[in-house]
Amino acid sequence: MARFIFITGGVVSSLGKGLASAALGALLQARGYSVRLRKLDPYLNVDPGTMSPFEHGEVFVTDDGAETDLDLGHYERFTGVPARKTDSISSGRVYTNVLEKERRGDYLGKTIQVIPHVTNEIKDFISIGEDEVDFMLCEIGGTVGDIEGLPFFEAIRQFSQDKPRGQCIFMHLTLLPYIKASGELKTKPTQHSVKELRSIGLAPDILVCRSEGPIPQKEREKLALFCNVRPDSVIAAQDLKSIYEAPIAYHREGMDQAVLDAFGINPAPKPNLSKWDDVTDRVHNPEGEVTVAIVGKYTQLEDAYKSIAEALTHGGMANRVKVKIEWVDAELFDREDPAPHLEKFDAILVPGGFGERGTEGKIKAAQYARENGVPYLGICLGMQMAVIEAARNVAGLTKAGSEEFDHEAGERRFEPVVYHLKEWVQGNEKVNRSVADDKGGTMRLGAYDAVLTEGSRVAQIYGKTAIDERHRHRYEVDTSYKDTLEEVGLKFSGMSPDGKLPEIVEWPDHPWFIGVQFHPELKSKPFAPHPLFRDFVRAAKEVSRLV
Ligand code: GLN
Repeated sequence: MARFIFITGGVVSSLGKGLASAALGALLQARGYSVRLRKLDPYLNVDPGTMSPFEHGEVFVTDDGAETDLDLGHYERFTGVPARKTDSISSGRVYTNVLEKERRGDYLGKTIQVIPHVTNEIKDFISIGEDEVDFMLCEIGGTVGDIEGLPFFEAIRQFSQDKPRGQCIFMHLTLLPYIKASGELKTKPTQHSVKELRSIGLAPDILVCRSEGPIPQKEREKLALFCNVRPDSVIAAQDLKSIYEAPIAYHREGMDQAVLDAFGINPAPKPNLSKWDDVTDRVHNPEGEVTVAIVGKYTQLEDAYKSIAEALTHGGMANRVKVKIEWVDAELFDREDPAPHLEKFDAILVPGGFGERGTEGKIKAAQYARENGVPYLGICLGMQMAVIEAARNVAGLTKAGSEEFDHEAGERRFEPVVYHLKEWVQGNEKVNRSVADDKGGTMRLGAYDAVLTEGSRVAQIYGKTAIDERHRHRYEVDTSYKDTLEEVGLKFSGMSPDGKLPEIVEWPDHPWFIGVQFHPELKSKPFAPHPLFRDFVRAAKEVSRLV
């Protein structure tokens, strides 16, 4: 049966709880253990799928088609363990499940209450698959004291009592603010945060303290004394240059040792950190730099494209270059010629997105890349825009567009080269969707197979012709335009196994121009960069050498 580590946060949000959890997962793996990471989010949305990226950053999609919190992306990037639907839950989902059971009469006429019905639902979620791994790490979103978080804190308190002694530990992440005037790191907010936790029955075993610099011994001892933890269980989490330094940095601080000590695991297996030493070395010692433009809509909030930024970093690590990302607002090209804005870049990436705003600018970015031989990677909407660009400017279908942008309008403005897909096949099953369905969960979501054309650039890049990648979209490139577009040179080099859905397009006579209907960024890892990102950065590096 798994041992459980519950990770909570205090003082302020955005301390990097997800990252600390992911790094701890990697450290336990380095000692030979199997791990699974879970996120419990107190907000009331049923899942983040319908939240704006401005609200919540990107939506991370799992192989089994769940739209989850971006922290699951960190978990996967650090541990390589593919996340599942059952690794992410929100209050909205918990309450929906409870209320559905109530309507079905499952509670046999009982009064439904937070304790025990809601807390039982949370506990059931936590224990899914508990026999499969050595350690289950459960991160509670938000900060202690949040009203929505209370049922989760109560549930983990009960859970630790339900289990045999010594099977659950609690790790609390806080901030030690540095006060310049007195030149001191302040422990009081952490003391208050721990007091708050203890008032709801939770006593942390380990404190992870974010701080700008090292924590002096005096402050460590003070924290240990006032927060009732052992001094060697006060872990300093200093600001890092790269998130990929975290496993090594936290190991040096003794995080994994403190966790094993808290469980009484003695002697502890020795860690093998060579994978992370290599990752850190690649991050710290690049041999050059390339600059990539991401032409998107949510450019003010980098978290909206978190996995893409990380996958580019991984591509850079594979090629030993630093990838500098510049965010370009696609709407800029509604007003201005893209050339002067784009000419300084070694490559252009157009990411996924929803809705019409900014799409004409993305089409112009694709045109600029095609005409000027600049490496272009179009992801999901970025592929659809590249296809529309080819249809309009090369195949002469001047009214080409996507059905997505004609939804509201009575009269059709575009010829729908990209159309709303309502029926498709997943594995052996048929899936149906209608325009009238809810916005939540009506997309082609999760892993789908694709077959690549023998000899195509993508087949070379992947080194195989059968792949599977994660999807999240409602619209598809219409295969009835395939012949017309192939005649002018845009090749459909990846298709769904039944040949009905275009998965990849490429311009073979261009130095590097690929559009993919799926999201390769979701599967990239620092120690196993995704082949498309690895090769995209390689192409960018070649361009930067030429200049
Ligand atoms: N809006 C497009 C669609 O639904 C693209 C989605 C995306 O880029 N993830 O098909």
